[in-house]
Amino acid sequence: MKIVVLGCGFGGVEVARELRKRSKELDIIMIDRRARLEYLAVHPEILSAKVTPEEISGDLNKFASEIGAKFIQDTVVDLDFKAKKVKAGGNGHEIAYDFLVIAIGAEQTFFGIQGAEALSCSVNTLNGALETKNALDQLDYVKKANIAVIGGGLTGVEVAGELNDYFDDRGAQAKIYLVEMMPRVLPAFPKEKVSKYVAKILADRGVEILTETAVQEVGEEAITFTDGSKRPYDLVIWTAGIKPNSLLEKLDIPKVKGWLKADSYLRVSECVFAVGDTLSYECAGVRSGQNVEEAERQGRVAAANIIRTIKGVGLVRYRPKNTIQNPRAFLSLGSDKAVMYFNGLVLTVFAYRLKKFVEHRYMKRFHVCSVKSTKCKGI
Ligand SMILES: Cc1cc2nc3c(=O)[nH]c(=O)nc-3n(C[C@H](O)[C@H](O)[C@H](O)COP(=O)(O)OP(=O)(O)OC[C@H]3O[C@@H](n4cnc5c(N)ncnc54)[C@H](O)[C@@H]3O)c2cc1C
Repeated sequence: MKIVVLGCGFGGVEVARELRKRSKELDIIMIDRRARLEYLAVHPEILSAKVTPEEISGDLNKFASEIGAKFIQDTVVDLDFKAKKVKAGGNGHEIAYDFLVIAIGAEQTFFGIQGAEALSCSVNTLNGALETKNALDQLDYVKKANIAVIGGGLTGVEVAGELNDYFDDRGAQAKIYLVEMMPRVLPAFPKEKVSKYVAKILADRGVEILTETAVQEVGEEAITFTDGSKRPYDLVIWTAGIKPNSLLEKLDIPKVKGWLKADSYLRVSECVFAVGDTLSYECAGVRSGQNVEEAERQGRVAAANIIRTIKGVGLVRYRPKNTIQNPRAFLSLGSDKAVMYFNGLVLTVFAYRLKKFVEHRYMKRFHVCSVKSTKCKGI
């Protein structure tokens, strides 16, 4: 049986790992356009140089060979569900499958705002984070630089915190402003107290927080807001919004607002499963969040259901835990401070150390694998 795992981020890697844990027989093929898994949640810390690219990314080829899978680095351009083939790259390379798992994540969106994509930096990819760090290093520090962070969600507040550390380390001054369209930062978190706590920490370190402020245009030197006001900038870092992977546009399969739709066993069709950010999953009015925890949990359920389908036994239902209605997350805020938001509780003591522990434990599977064993240390 040949299982193709398309996309090797958190969801795809977990599918491959779980499939191998459950069966030594399967032929597992992992495909990704990147050579390395990127730990996106830690990208803001690239800016303050607290982490290196090597520490927060893992060699997918090495990971695949550790678990007895094959890794292909290529961009998938189309899927032929009838012929059960994945079409990769410009040379029309086709890979056949018996089961396919789509785990291609999401893409950054600039909402069609004029100038936003062309003139902003980003931390959504490792290369983007490195380029943003490079752009920071190139700024003219004779004058006070203006740095605009667009989007006051999880990534935006983390970026603002790390920028403070960056400027503190250099002994340089900058005006950092964080722009959020909604009335408070972290609008996706149901409890307002987490927003207030985070806003105060950032404001105490000099970040200006502009809520109920929407970007209309990013010009060469200034940002124009929808109320007509303008702010000059030296660097814009865009952290607002994600959209479905553009590959989905050409696929004729069930979708919700462009995101993949799966049944409660994570099946898009009989032999095609989907996991992670590419999916919009709702169960009894509760919607799965697009986060690492859910991508991994979905990965394990999809793998279990592929094996169960092969064996002809009943499938297990997927029930989201880290949901839109009840999200949980770690947020780092710079200067070794973090917040853990869990079941409506805001925990601050040891949160940064706990966050680092979780990240380190995850990355161990890429950095400390024994060559022969399929059970890497740290898994
Ligand atoms: C900056 C940032 C910070 C974040 N912080 C947090 C956080 O603190 N906590 C949290 O829980 N979540 C966080 N998230 C969200 C989290 O990273 C995602 O929910 C998670 O990565 C989803 O995993 P995934 O496997 O679905 O997608 P991804 O991890 O995005 O992996 C998708 C993979 O598919 C590959 N791919 C895509 N298209 C193709 C193609 N056509 N051909 C071949 N390969 C393809 C990509 O290269 C990528 O490796 C953050 C996201 C970002 C961008």
